[in-house]
Amino acid sequence: MSIAIYPGSFDPITNGHLDIATRAAKIFEKLIIGVYETPNKPLLFTAEERVELIKQAIADLPNVEVESFNGLTVDFANRVKAQAMVRGLRMTTDFEREFDMAMMNKKLSPELELVCLMPRVEYQFLSSSLLKEVASLGGNVDDLVPKHVASALRKKFQGKA
Ligand code: ADP
Repeated sequence: MSIAIYPGSFDPITNGHLDIATRAAKIFEKLIIGVYETPNKPLLFTAEERVELIKQAIADLPNVEVESFNGLTVDFANRVKAQAMVRGLRMTTDFEREFDMAMMNKKLSPELELVCLMPRVEYQFLSSSLLKEVASLGGNVDDLVPKHVASALRKKFQGKA
């Protein structure tokens, strides 16, 4: 069975992430979205909350699952027997970082292949961090995230805008 992981912080999942996951799910028989529990950046949602928001977002994608993990991404990939890792590549921000990470991961786990997919134009400039900034200031982000994520954001920032 062809299995791929799609790792990230997903704080929270956006339509850009979903676009990548939906397309990767057509290429691989099983796609496991891996939620880094403790990335090296400030988080708005707990790991459990991020997993729950993803679960609801992928409800109609039968071959997509979600799991949280800690430690090296390549170890997570080995544990779930993935042959490939999927990452999203946006126009301006991602290439250099993905390139460095890909070289390092190749050294750590030569068998694991990296598959980079480019999101649709409307999601090229969408990041979870920008999304959180806009939402924290009371901006409307309804077009950029699933409905339940927009209401989770509103709840987090209620009274803080
Ligand atoms: P990380 O902390 O690994 O950057 P993110 O949750 O920000 O985690 O992103 C996870 C993956 O999704 C990365 O490959 C990132 O490039 C990709 N990604 C993030 N936002 C988008 C988007 N708007 N469109 C496509 N891919 C995206």
